[in-house]
Amino acid sequence: MARFGVTRLGVTRFGILGLAAVMAAALAATAQAQTPPPFATTKVDGTENVYIFRFGGHQSMFVVTPAGVIATDPISLRRPAAKAYIEEIEKITKAPIRYVIYSHSHFDHIAGGKPFKDKGAVFVAHQNARARILQVKDPDVVVPDQMVTGTKRNITLGGTTLELNYVGKNHSDSTLVMRLPKEKIIFTVDWIPINGVQFRGMADNYLPDIEDGLKKVIAMDWDRLIPGHAGPGGRQTGTKEHARDMLAYLQDLSAAVKQAASEGKCYADAMRDIKLPKYESWPNYNNFLPMNVERYCDYYNRGI
Ligand SMILES: [Zn+2]
Repeated sequence: MARFGVTRLGVTRFGILGLAAVMAAALAATAQAQTPPPFATTKVDGTENVYIFRFGGHQSMFVVTPAGVIATDPISLRRPAAKAYIEEIEKITKAPIRYVIYSHSHFDHIAGGKPFKDKGAVFVAHQNARARILQVKDPDVVVPDQMVTGTKRNITLGGTTLELNYVGKNHSDSTLVMRLPKEKIIFTVDWIPINGVQFRGMADNYLPDIEDGLKKVIAMDWDRLIPGHAGPGGRQTGTKEHARDMLAYLQDLSAAVKQAASEGKCYADAMRDIKLPKYESWPNYNNFLPMNVERYCDYYNRGI
């Protein structure tokens, strides 16, 4: 009886603490069991040859063809993702890795590509990404060999076509929308999350261009989106609904900040007071909404 701290009067103080400790231990064990491994490779449902490589919270698409592999972002900033990425590819095919395509210029996605370069891969990126990489000169970022200079370029390999579309400035001035026309899948990074507001203060984002870009992406023919980060619950792919939700969020945010700016409430009052309850279930809503508001205050107050 006393062993569980239960008396005729109920659970004793000691018993409650003991029970709490047992429950905490059980929860910790569950959390440990649910912690995902550092990296994993997933074949996209319903495809023969399209995969997602995830390392930590970042993910990249790769496409396997008989003539070789088209890989994307090395996601290896200060961590050994590229080695794991290559090993995962080589478990699937012995065909060479022919291409590495950068999604955009941000180093958390594109650093650490040297192991791919050493294997002879050709690196491709939008011309603005190449220019930025040459400017910053980070020794850990491989300079692209080839560029996307217009609004579209196709990579064709082993019977697969991958379109590299440029829809203008949005999350950066170098973002590509990679589309597999046959599979109706797109891979585009950091600006169309699966249920999430924009990251922090939307550094390097272009307003209002990002809204036009979203409209162009929504108008394209595709069913599934592979984003650069998994969504809530580790969800790895999204749908056109997520792109529509992001456009609606930015339009609502923009309208709310425009109103606040016209009333002289930017920055502090707007950052404190603007709420968009429609989106409050998105996991980063509380942390990042005020910073998103700050970015739109820059736009409406200062035109930047
Ligand atoms: Zn980015």
